[in-house]
Amino acid sequence: MNKKNKDYIESLGGSADEALLSRYAYKISSTIENVIETDVQSDPVAAQYIPHDAELNITDDELLDPIGDEAHTPVKGIVHRYPDRVLFKPANVCAVYCRYCFRREMVGPKAGAPADILSDSEIEAALDYIRTTPEIWEVILTGGDPLVLSPRNLGRILDALEAIDHVKVIRIHSRVPIADPSRLSAAMIETLTRDKALYLVVHINHAQEINDDVRNCLRSVKKTGVSLLSQSVLLRGINDKAETLARLFRALVALGVKPYYLHHPDLAPGTSHFRLTIAQGQEIMRALQGRLSGLAIPTYMLDIPGGAGKVPLTPCYIEGDTMIRDYKGNAHHYG
Ligand SMILES: *Cc1c(COP(=O)(O)O)cnc(C)c1O
Ligand code: SF4
Repeated sequence: MNKKNKDYIESLGGSADEALLSRYAYKISSTIENVIETDVQSDPVAAQYIPHDAELNITDDELLDPIGDEAHTPVKGIVHRYPDRVLFKPANVCAVYCRYCFRREMVGPKAGAPADILSDSEIEAALDYIRTTPEIWEVILTGGDPLVLSPRNLGRILDALEAIDHVKVIRIHSRVPIADPSRLSAAMIETLTRDKALYLVVHINHAQEINDDVRNCLRSVKKTGVSLLSQSVLLRGINDKAETLARLFRALVALGVKPYYLHHPDLAPGTSHFRLTIAQGQEIMRALQGRLSGLAIPTYMLDIPGGAGKVPLTPCYIEGDTMIRDYKGNAHHYG
């Protein structure tokens, strides 16, 4: 840890503990620095990135591989859990590192070990798995963050995926448009302009993360014909109020970004201070339903610990076989 980072973290009330920082990578961008207003205790952006003592508390239920990716890895860089789609992780590097990350044990440089970027032959082997598995209809580039690759390297992967007939849809999951929009250069925008359907799912948790650079970046991506979606993690003290999420989702829809998933936090080590209960999450979703345009409501999702997959945690509006409650809580009969 260099002195500049250490001073910065401490000036925001965070922890620059060596053991903590060598276990979980620390990195932020100038965009993030510019949108942080106060400190790690009270700022919803600082709390996502600035290391905190609370991370040293690892609870018994927390897991090194919280969503069980390891068991579904047929070849390095691929996670094949669902029949029709795979994750393809070309690098475990990110533009910034989020303190609540569910892959925090896997992403970023670790003490003494460099970050892991797939070699050309490993990328070829992963592509071969996709080529020879005709059930794969969609490829989801994730990581790490695929938009930290150079436009040329990302372009080579996208070219190869476009050439595979049974792959009809390409999806990219990225924090870059929010955390470091300057990486979406003209060359990167050009690389994303494709014939096949390409969906970019941006990871964002709070409206404070949207500044003019982010707005301009999303506008230029949109012009390429890429479809924009978002995913957020429900985080205690950061976005665990219906008004906070409503403001975020409205801002996204107004920018042409459809909120896709709101993830219940995973059991990643040292993240219990970010978690709330499923019942609390469902209360928040209930408060949004009906009061917020359907376009602005994502599906509330849980990735079941251990690797059984994702399921929606949508609150239930049906009681018994025929009693339905409306969003205001009034009962009605159907049928
Ligand atoms: C989350 C995830 C996906 C994508 O799931 P969707 O519900 O289609 O967004 C695909 N594969 C794995 C292994 C995942 O964890
Ligand atoms: S950008 Fe995504 S993968 Fe990278 S640290 Fe944040 S949550 Fe984890």
